[in-house]
Amino acid sequence: MKEITSSEFDTEVLAGGKVILDFYSTECPPCEALAPKFEGLAKLYGNDIKFIKMFRQQNRSLAEKLGVKSSPTLLFFDNGVQVSETLTGGIKRSDIIKRLDSMLSEERVKEIKKDIKPSISEFDVLILGAGPGGLTAGLYLCQSKINTVLIDIALPGGHVSTTHEVSNYPGFIDPQPGYLLSHNMSEQTKLCGTIYKVAVDVSKIDLEKKEVVIDEFETIKARRIIIATGTSPNLMGIPGERELKGKGISYCATCDAKYYVDKEVIVIGGGNSAVEEADFISKFASKITMVHQFDAFTANKQAQEKLFANPKINVLFGHEPRSFSREGDKMITTVEDLKSNKVNTLVSDGVFVFIGMKPNIDLFRDKLKLDNWGYIKADEDMRTSMPGVYAVGDVISKKYRQITTAVADGTIAAIAIAKELS
Ligand SMILES: Cc1cc2nc3c(=O)[nH]c(=O)nc-3n(C[C@H](O)[C@H](O)[C@H](O)COP(=O)(O)OP(=O)(O)OC[C@H]3O[C@@H](n4cnc5c(N)ncnc54)[C@H](O)[C@@H]3O)c2cc1C
Repeated sequence: MKEITSSEFDTEVLAGGKVILDFYSTECPPCEALAPKFEGLAKLYGNDIKFIKMFRQQNRSLAEKLGVKSSPTLLFFDNGVQVSETLTGGIKRSDIIKRLDSMLSEERVKEIKKDIKPSISEFDVLILGAGPGGLTAGLYLCQSKINTVLIDIALPGGHVSTTHEVSNYPGFIDPQPGYLLSHNMSEQTKLCGTIYKVAVDVSKIDLEKKEVVIDEFETIKARRIIIATGTSPNLMGIPGERELKGKGISYCATCDAKYYVDKEVIVIGGGNSAVEEADFISKFASKITMVHQFDAFTANKQAQEKLFANPKINVLFGHEPRSFSREGDKMITTVEDLKSNKVNTLVSDGVFVFIGMKPNIDLFRDKLKLDNWGYIKADEDMRTSMPGVYAVGDVISKKYRQITTAVADGTIAAIAIAKELS
């Protein structure tokens, strides 16, 4: 694996051979999540494919020339020609493998995969998800001397790690940067001795058998499972969104706002996240147009007052986006005026979408009792409908989803399990 700058691009990437190039940034949780996967795959595929990294902030003009719009972005080259689809955002190990395999012969891929050895390990408790809920459960279980493993498809921290400031978590006089709060939570749990398996692909979850397979070849068994998988941002579900995700459309201000210095952006949404994140983006962008379907924001009054006092931010109430497309460097967003049904076109440099969340339950949707919105039903000890399976945090059916409530759920589940196992 090698780190290069744009001056070496021609000799290291275009001169020939097979290359995977990672454009990464600092203060970018998805980049941190990718780093160990990239390193692990470099060990497996490194004899056949060159693994190269480039720091995007210092090589901005090359990144722009190559169409890199967010971090991390993986590009693939074969004999100087870009091949395969670009990968960006929360990149899965399996998606990288698919692309690497397609660059090699079937025989060579078989040989490489022979070097991967399946493994099985056993724990008392397996926690799925290392946000505040999972991390707190991990801390309490570890302090009860219960052998616990914490598994996450990304780095530890959950949503807190991508929230720019947290001002309502008790114990701190000043607002805390989200990445720092989540880092401290994670370090406390890790230092206690909880085993971490993060930035992995969760390939299979068998809740009945209490088995989880990660990265295809590693089986982890446990006596109890805690689901703490939280939520993911809702997509708009309109034409152009999937194609332009990570290429002009972002769902994470902390990750991408810094690339819009003196640029014009659109922020879609009107809840707390949209209003607070728009204010954060205005530290970089020259102009923000907020698009919200209702005639008033649903965010709290304090956040709204700050937003309305911000001269960089204009609001289009009563409008809904209908499509996204690109024209050269510009993002084209069509929005419908819900009163007149007139469709207008907004031109910007980028779009941020903050329109609510959905529970992360895809791998066990049919196994547990859920509420009407798809959130897991849990009792007062955080037990789900399946014996031995607990759920905590934003993924459960409840009224208020906050760091404090996730932390409380994690505490309760861990104490209940500790009592059961003792
Ligand atoms: C933009 C934004 C700002 C916010 N600001 C605040 C605030 O100021 N104060 C406040 O109290 N709350 C705030 N919240 C809410 C708060 O972040 C959440 O309530 C809290 O993070 C929930 O914690 P959690 O552990 O349940 O889930 P999450 O934080 O969502 O963590 C879930 C974890 O599970 C992992 N995961 C997902 N699927 C899988 C899988 N299949 N296998 C393994 N792991 C998986 C994810 O990678 C993630 O790390 C904010 C939320 C957002 C989105």
